[in-house]
Parts: sequence; C-alpha cells; structure tokens
Amino acid sequence: MRVITTVAEMRRARREMAGPPWRIGLVPTMGALHEGHLSLVRRARADDDTVVVSIFVNPTQFGPSEDFAHYPRDADRDLALLRDLGADVVFVPPLEEVYPQGFDTHVEVEKLTQRLEGVSRPGHLRGVATVVTKLFNIVQPHRAYFGQKDAQQLAVVRRLTRDLDLPVEVVGLPTVREPDGLAMSSRNAYLSPDERKAALVLYRSLEAAQELWRSGVRDASLIRQHMGEVLAAPATGGLARVEYVSVADAETLEELETVDRPALVSLAVRIGKTRLIDNVTLTP
Ligand code: AMP
Repeated sequence: MRVITTVAEMRRARREMAGPPWRIGLVPTMGALHEGHLSLVRRARADDDTVVVSIFVNPTQFGPSEDFAHYPRDADRDLALLRDLGADVVFVPPLEEVYPQGFDTHVEVEKLTQRLEGVSRPGHLRGVATVVTKLFNIVQPHRAYFGQKDAQQLAVVRRLTRDLDLPVEVVGLPTVREPDGLAMSSRNAYLSPDERKAALVLYRSLEAAQELWRSGVRDASLIRQHMGEVLAAPATGGLARVEYVSVADAETLEELETVDRPALVSLAVRIGKTRLIDNVTLTP
C-alpha cells in the first residue's frame, strides 16, 4: 500500500496505473475510519482494479464554531485498517497541498444546498462540493463511493458530477449501523454513555416514520409530527435538541405534502454538544 501526500506524486502514481479496461475506485474520507467507511472500501476492492482512499479533514466544510480542531484523527490506525482491506493507495495530503496560498475558487451547487444541512451549516456543502471536485481531478477515478448516511452530500455530488460532466460514476452505498441501530459516525466518539443511549432516539424516530409509511400513511406532515413526538420522549433525558425533521423528495430535497414518490426522511439532532444526522428512504 502506497501512502501519498502530494498532488504531484498522486498524479504521477495515477499516470503509472494501467489504461482501460483497468478501473480505478476512489473512497473519499475524513479518516477516523469505522465500518461505514470500510464498507465503501470493501465495495471498491471488489469492483475496481486499483483502490485509492483519501483521508483529508477538509476545513472548508466546517463552520467557524464547528469541531474542525477537535475532529478525531488517528492516522496510524486508519492506515493499518486500510492495509488489511487491501487498499492500493492512501492519499493523505496536508492542508497546504489542497488549499495553497491564494486559493480562491469554489464549487457551488445552488438549489440542492439551500435545504436541510445547507440551512443548518452554511457553507458546509460548498466545502464538500469543492473538495470532492478537486479529489476527482487529482485522482481521476472511474468510480467514487459515498455513503447514504450523508444523503444530501451524495445528492450534491451526483448533481455536480452530472452538471460539470465529470467522467466519474458515483456509487451510493447503504448506511452501516451499530447493532442497536445508531448510524456509525466518527462523531459518535464524542458521546458520553448517557448521550450514547439518548442518541438512539434518531433511529427510533426513523423507524416510527417507516412504520407509519408501511401502515399506509402518506401525509408527510403527520410523519414529521410523529417523529417530533418520538424525539421529545422523556427517554432521552432532555439531552436531544432537534435541528430539523424532514420528509422530502429524494431527488430535489423539496419538502413533500404527500409521500407519492421516493422520499428522503432525514433529521439532524444535537445530543449534548454533538450534532448527529441520519436518514432513511421511503420508496413507493
Ligand atoms: P466522512 O469521513 O464522514 O467524510 O465519511 C466518508 C464517507 O463515508 C462518506 O461518503 C460518508 O457518507 C460515508 N459514511 C460515513 N458514515 C457511514 C455509515 N455509517 N455508513 C455508510 N457510509 C458512511
């Protein structure tokens, strides 16, 4: 496994990779790897000839009062896990390789980013869109793998790939959960034992939405309302503060009145100081 830290060396390594039908897969991450990330790497390993994993905690996708400085970092452990999975290249650029002095260009996906995470975290999705575009240009993969866990991010990446004619196939893979249902996330490491218990309320409210859906409810506001009731349950010990609960068109992310097409049910909740997101899709 080759560990590469500069754009120039990554480009050189890319030129040395064989031409078609040789396939290159990219898994972009911010490190602190867990089973969610590893599921993407496994899929790339199964489907592609060369597997490149990037680890870069991207400052432009963190707001000024967010956790960039404290975001969990454990390069040695990450590299050991990736070596075990048979990754070929790990691209770990320092900050100044990605954003050199004078950097002044951003990728903005307009409508899709005006909802959900875009409202709660201004600039976050612009940071994601910009760094993903750069990684696609630096690594030039045939396929890139993203988790459904960050559903709006996946939608934004699909949109920009289409809109900018980037020759990359974007693959979205299901959310990997802990045995009790909590979606795996690097930020789960911030949770105290009480908060960890309270955090289960996110999945419970998504399950409640799915149950209503299965029982035939199509009124989106009823689903949102019921999710809100689950999130307010005393079992969370008052630790959960809801940022948003959404039942939206899975493609445009516009809020629905009636669930008459594929819908993304998503939510953002603060458990103590930790902000968690999760989602499920309802497909008629
Ligand atoms: P991150 O390191 O948080 O930027 O995540 C890197 C990639 O892993 C993104 O495409 C995420 O959507 C994906 N990912 C994170 N958590 C999970 C999960 N629990 N299941 C599946 N994919 C995940």
